[in-house]
Amino acid sequence: MTRRAVTTRVQQRDYGTPLQHVDHTGTYTAAQLDEQGWKLRGACAGRPEHPWFDRANGTETHHARRFCGGCPVARMCLAAALVFAEEYGTWGGHTPTDRQPLAAQLLAGIPLRAVLDHALAGDDTARKRSA
Ligand code: SF4
Repeated sequence: MTRRAVTTRVQQRDYGTPLQHVDHTGTYTAAQLDEQGWKLRGACAGRPEHPWFDRANGTETHHARRFCGGCPVARMCLAAALVFAEEYGTWGGHTPTDRQPLAAQLLAGIPLRAVLDHALAGDDTARKRSA
């Protein structure tokens, strides 16, 4: 799936609406990802210096990934960004550019659980933990 096709699919729904094509089998539902509770357990919670929506230049991305690297809810965070097609910010240690191929995998029918497993496979143990 091309980046343009993914972008087009994302633009076809209202912001804050979960993507309907995602296969949630064996992992979080869209409702679970939409809850606020897990966000309060994130390493960035209450830390306004976390560069959520800053431009993804090298320094900011590196800083954001330092937070995410030790975060106990990184898997859920990345899942939320993918399911809600977040266009900005570093979620679960993944920038918008990092998430593009993952979004394409979801659109191709690969289950969310497998996409998350693969995306986080090279990360440290903390990032692989479920929320
Ligand atoms: S993974 Fe990163 S962005 Fe997500 S809650 Fe944890 S520290 Fe915050």
